[in-house]
Amino acid sequence: MKKLPKLFLPVTLLAGIVCGFLRNDMYVDAQGDPLGLIPLHHPNYPIIYGLAAVVAVLLIVYRFAGPKRPYQIVTKLPIAGIGAGFGALACAYMLFKTEGSTLMLVAQAMGLFGFWGLATAYFAGKRPSLLNMLLPVFVCFGMVLGNLTLWSRLHQTQDYLFDSLFYLFTAIYGIHRITAASGQKADDRAGFVWGQAALFCAIAAAAYGHILYFVSLSLWLLSTFFVTPCKMVLPAPAERLIKMLERAGYTAYAVGGCVRDGMLGRTPKDYDLCTNAKPEEIAKVFDGYELVKNGEKHGTVGVVVDQTLYEITTYRTEGGYEDSRHPDWVEFVDNVCDDLARRDFTVNAMAFNPAVGYIDPYGGQSDLFGRTLRAVGDPQKRFREDALRILRGVRFACRFRLVPQKDTLKEMIALAPTMDRLASERVFSELNEILCHIDEGDLLLYKDVLLQVLPELAPCVDFCQHSRHHRYDVLRHTEQVLCNLPADAPLRWAALLHDISKPQTFVQDEKGEGHFHGHAAESARVAEQILLRLKAPAALREEVVTLIAHHMDLLTPEKPLLRRRLSKYGEPLLKKMIDLQTADRIATGYKKEKHLQDRQKLLGVLKKLTKEEGRLEVKDLAIDGHDLIALGFTEGPQIGQVMNHLLQQVLDGKLPNDHETLKAAAAEFLKNQ
Ligand code: ATP
Ligand code: MG
Repeated sequence: MKKLPKLFLPVTLLAGIVCGFLRNDMYVDAQGDPLGLIPLHHPNYPIIYGLAAVVAVLLIVYRFAGPKRPYQIVTKLPIAGIGAGFGALACAYMLFKTEGSTLMLVAQAMGLFGFWGLATAYFAGKRPSLLNMLLPVFVCFGMVLGNLTLWSRLHQTQDYLFDSLFYLFTAIYGIHRITAASGQKADDRAGFVWGQAALFCAIAAAAYGHILYFVSLSLWLLSTFFVTPCKMVLPAPAERLIKMLERAGYTAYAVGGCVRDGMLGRTPKDYDLCTNAKPEEIAKVFDGYELVKNGEKHGTVGVVVDQTLYEITTYRTEGGYEDSRHPDWVEFVDNVCDDLARRDFTVNAMAFNPAVGYIDPYGGQSDLFGRTLRAVGDPQKRFREDALRILRGVRFACRFRLVPQKDTLKEMIALAPTMDRLASERVFSELNEILCHIDEGDLLLYKDVLLQVLPELAPCVDFCQHSRHHRYDVLRHTEQVLCNLPADAPLRWAALLHDISKPQTFVQDEKGEGHFHGHAAESARVAEQILLRLKAPAALREEVVTLIAHHMDLLTPEKPLLRRRLSKYGEPLLKKMIDLQTADRIATGYKKEKHLQDRQKLLGVLKKLTKEEGRLEVKDLAIDGHDLIALGFTEGPQIGQVMNHLLQQVLDGKLPNDHETLKAAAAEFLKNQ
């Protein structure tokens, strides 16, 4: 879509303010004096309303055709917040001064509370209650009703009809924004809500023209003006490579993930380049550079600059995909847009060149800032071609808080069974990333996809725990545990699988209370099977299995207990155990504060222990295997047994870690055998 001129929004809003001024005479206080900045009496209502309607239409046009900026309101949060404050003041002022209908006043008050509650909830990083979400919407419908009542009573058709339409529009807009807000991170949400509140009042300013609304509007405008959309800055070597290709007569762009990340102001993992030069031509242009050619068959040549590898790929289209994994054929093409068409999602199908700017034929930028995950082209076709895209979709949605577009989500779920043909390593690596980015609501939203690759989780869905200690069913509880942990892969895997065997170990006592004896060990066993199947790295697998197997072991802030655990697991793993146990307890849905305090206490004691004593292991004992053999022990498992026995004695403070004492204790042990 063609870009709107920069002045479009300010001019439109200014026109709105003028309309507001012109209709100031409608609102009078108890003494009959007009409210507002310039109390103009204007009998020519149809013209004013005509103008106001034009403003409304222009605002809608701006909404759909204007620049889609990255949460501009967020960045200038304080200004937008102050704007919202002024708007709220204006509402309160109008409430006391005008002679509106009671219904309208009540609606307006509810709206204020609604916005206030929403903003508070979002600020606290919590999910706001449904009531808080819906109040601002109710208020608008309330205003519609109020205006229609007045209309029927006073028969001033134009006045109230316009007001009704205005509120109707605001309500629909509100629903739209609330839906879009639901998946975002707490930081984004706070600014977003304040911005919406400011905008709400700002639109009202256009209608009422009151000074306070006017201030609110100006501040909101100001908050959006300050922000410039993130401009992509390529690292010098990438820019140099592009320039060299261009000088040789080819076109070249940065493409894919780096453009997406750059647009969001994040640092990309790597910079992929693409060009119409064929692989052998790329090699020729970079003659003298260190080249990596093992991807040449697929059109990729790696060029090493300043010890960094840049992959340059020839524009290509693909086709076939008989196996839902690999294209049957690949064809080099000359146009970057044809290359972008083969990419998975619109947010990944953008290219950038410093001289040309962005190439974005599928609306990736607008989707990125509108927080939408959309397949490039026909989603069914795209997921049929390569089933990995389904998991990639979940990954990008979680990582960038994108909401999958309806058809994209539908096809992701419908075609999830085709993922059985994917290589385990690729499934594991996607799941790994998904787990590290998962947030509230994601596990349930994508369960139909995730259960295809983790079918062992299926019995946990909606599995009621019949326990007064648990507020949630097993899967919801699992999701809560995940969201209360840092983004560490082994921890997140442990969280995902820690209760996987609860349904199988479930029993109910005579009072109807649910119990899950042995579920930790059983879940650890199932987790091991799953991670073996997914070909997870052995170190991760072992860590996850240990974390799960011991997630029910009581951890209390007592030195002897923690000393023993520290000796057995080491500090990093023990800290993770504490984190997992805390998250597990918080995810019961009760006493969050207490569990967080317990965690602090545990960490405090652990910190002291590690600082004062460090980790004591068998190898740190003041005695070794040779000493034991000299005492008469036989080589083999017996040595390990005795060493462990001695270690426990030292850890419990029963023996000092001293050579002679330990030797005597070992001799005693041998005597009692
Ligand atoms: P990340 O930041 O995680 O590396 P990315 O978007 O760069 O994300 P890559 O796997 O590195 O992801 O892929 C680079 C680009 O190649 C993607 O942005 C996308 O355009 C394209 N791509 C990768 N895998 C696929 C696929 N399976 N189907 C279609 N396009 C793909
Ligand atoms: Mg990448």
